[in-house]
Amino acid sequence: MASFTLQGIPVSRGIAIGRAHLLRPAALDVQHYLVGQEQVEAEVQRLQAAIVQVHKELQAIWSDLPLDAPTELGAFIDVHVLILSDPMISEAPLDIIRTRHYNAEWALVSQIDELSAQFDEIEDDYLRERKADIQQVAERVLKVLTGTAGSATRSDGIDERSANMIVVARDISPADMMQFRDVAFTGFVTDEGGQNSHTAIVSRSLGIPAVVGMGNASHLIEQDDWLIIDSDAGVVIVAPSTLVLEQYRERQTVLMKARKKLGKLKKTPAITQDGVEITLLANIELPQDAAPALEAGASGVGLFRSEFLFMESSGQEHKLPTEEEQFEAYRTAVTAMKGRPVTIRTLDVGADKPLDTTEHNILNPALGLRAIRYCLAEPQLFLTQLRAILRASAFGSVKILIPMMAHGFEIDQSLAMIEQAKTELRKEGKDFDANIAVGAMIEIPAAALSLPMFVKKLDFLSVGTNDLIQYTLAIDRADHEVAHLYDDLHPAILQLLQMIITAGERAGIPVSICGGMAGDIRLTRLLTGMGFRELSMPAALLPEIKQEILNTRLDALQGHVKKILRSYDSATIRETLAVMGSITASLPTLH
Ligand code: PEP
Ligand code: MG
Repeated sequence: MASFTLQGIPVSRGIAIGRAHLLRPAALDVQHYLVGQEQVEAEVQRLQAAIVQVHKELQAIWSDLPLDAPTELGAFIDVHVLILSDPMISEAPLDIIRTRHYNAEWALVSQIDELSAQFDEIEDDYLRERKADIQQVAERVLKVLTGTAGSATRSDGIDERSANMIVVARDISPADMMQFRDVAFTGFVTDEGGQNSHTAIVSRSLGIPAVVGMGNASHLIEQDDWLIIDSDAGVVIVAPSTLVLEQYRERQTVLMKARKKLGKLKKTPAITQDGVEITLLANIELPQDAAPALEAGASGVGLFRSEFLFMESSGQEHKLPTEEEQFEAYRTAVTAMKGRPVTIRTLDVGADKPLDTTEHNILNPALGLRAIRYCLAEPQLFLTQLRAILRASAFGSVKILIPMMAHGFEIDQSLAMIEQAKTELRKEGKDFDANIAVGAMIEIPAAALSLPMFVKKLDFLSVGTNDLIQYTLAIDRADHEVAHLYDDLHPAILQLLQMIITAGERAGIPVSICGGMAGDIRLTRLLTGMGFRELSMPAALLPEIKQEILNTRLDALQGHVKKILRSYDSATIRETLAVMGSITASLPTLH
C-alpha cells in the first residue's frame, strides 16, 4: 500500500507509532422495519430498557472514575447523562414508534437525524459540539439495542496489544476516552473536533499524542494500517515506508529520553542564562490538581478555573456549590500548594462553559452574558464565591482574578463586591487576608486597549491569550473549520501583548500569561524576550518550558524581538522566531 499523509489540528505533544484501530459508528447500519400494532408497546419497552441500561453504564463509568482521572471527564459524562434524560432522546423516539410503527433503532436514528438537521441549520458552534454529544449518546443506546453493548474496548476484543494501537474514529465520546485510558492506547485520530473538543481536552490531560479535525481520515485509513502521529505537526502518516518508520522511531526514543531527563529539573529554578528568573505556574481545574502541580515543579497556581467546580456539580439535577463547599475546595488547593500563591479566577461561565444545559439558545454565546458579566448580573452568587475565596485566603497566599473585564464600571463593581464580602466576614468574625491581591484577566481587546483603567485600580494582570486571540481575530477557538486562522503570531496579537506588558512594567504591577501561548514552547523565547516574567500552563508542560528557559539568553534575543514587533509580515515574524530558536539552542545547557 502506498504511503500518504493527512493533516489535522494538533492538540497534544509527541509521536505515536502503531496500527490503526478503527471505531465505526453504530448508527449507520441499523435495521429498518415496521412493527405491528400489537408489538408497539413491546418495542417501546425495548427502547426504554436500552435507555435505562445506558444510564446505568454511564453511572458506572462515573463512579469508576479513578481519582487521577482528567478533571473535565466527570463533567462530560454528566452532559451525556443529561442528554439521555432529555425528552428529545428519552420520549420523542417512543412517540415515533407509537405513531409511525418504526422499530426501536429506526425510531431513534430518525429522531437523531431530525435533531442533527435542526442543529445544522442553527449553525451555532457550541450547539454543533452538542450535536456530536447527542450522536455519541444515541450510538450507546444503539449498541445496546443491536446487542453489541459493552465498552468499545471489550466488545472490540482489544487487549494489551492496544499499547501499540492508535484509535481512529469519526469522533470519540468522553466516556469511551475514559475506558481507552485504562487500555492505554498509544494515540488518537478523529475526523471531527477542534482545539477544545472533548478528545482534545482529555488527550492533552493524559499526555497522549492526538490529532483531531482530520476530515475523512476514518474513511481513508484501513483497519491495522501502520500509522505515525506526529502530534506537534498535526500530521498522520499512513502506511509509512520502513525508512520513515525508522526515523520516527529514533525521534520517539530521543523524545522519551529527553522527557525522562526533564523530570530531574523539578526543583531547579527557571533562570535564563543571563540570570533572569521566570516564574512558572500551573493552571488547574479542580482542587485535587494542586498537589500534582506542585509535584511537577510549579511555583504556584496562576489560574484556578473555578467554573469547573460549578459545572461538576451539575449532574442530573443542577445544583450550585454552597459557600462551604467552595471554601473547602479553595482551601484544599491553597493548603496543597504549601504557601505558594494560588490565583483563583472567579466564575467564568457562559459560551463554551455553560452553567446549565438549558442556556444554549443564545445567538452568540461568546459575546453574551459570560464571566464577570454573569457574576455582576447574579450578585448573590458572586458574593458567595468571593466570601469563600476570602475565607480560604486565611490559609495561604491567595489572589482573586476576575475574567472578561472590559469596562471601568466592571472593575469598580467587582472591587465593591469584594469590599462588601470583607465587611460581612469581619462582622461575622471570620478570618481572611485583608490585603488580598485582586487582578484582571486581559482577554478582550478593549481591555488591552484601555490598560490605564486597569493598572490604576488592580494589583496584577493575567493575559488570557485563548480569548484574546478569539476576540481579536474573530475566530471561534473551538471551531476546527477556522482553526487555520487562529494565529497567535498575528501582528495584532503581538502588538496587544507588547502593550499589556509595557503598561504593567510602567505601573509596576506584575503581568502573567495564563492562556495557551504560555505553554507553547515555540513562543517561550519571544514572550520572555518581550518582558513576560510569569507563565502559567498545564502542569504537564512545565518541565519542557523550564528547560527552554534554562537554554535562553534574553540579552542575545533583544534585536530579534524588536524586529518581530516592528514587522507586519507573517513570513518575517516566523523566520525571525526560527532564528531566535537556533541562536539560544546552541548555547550550553545549565544543569
Ligand atoms: C484564556 O482565555 O486564555 C484563558 C486562560 O481562559 P479560558 O481558556 O478559561 O477562557
Ligand atoms: Mg478566557
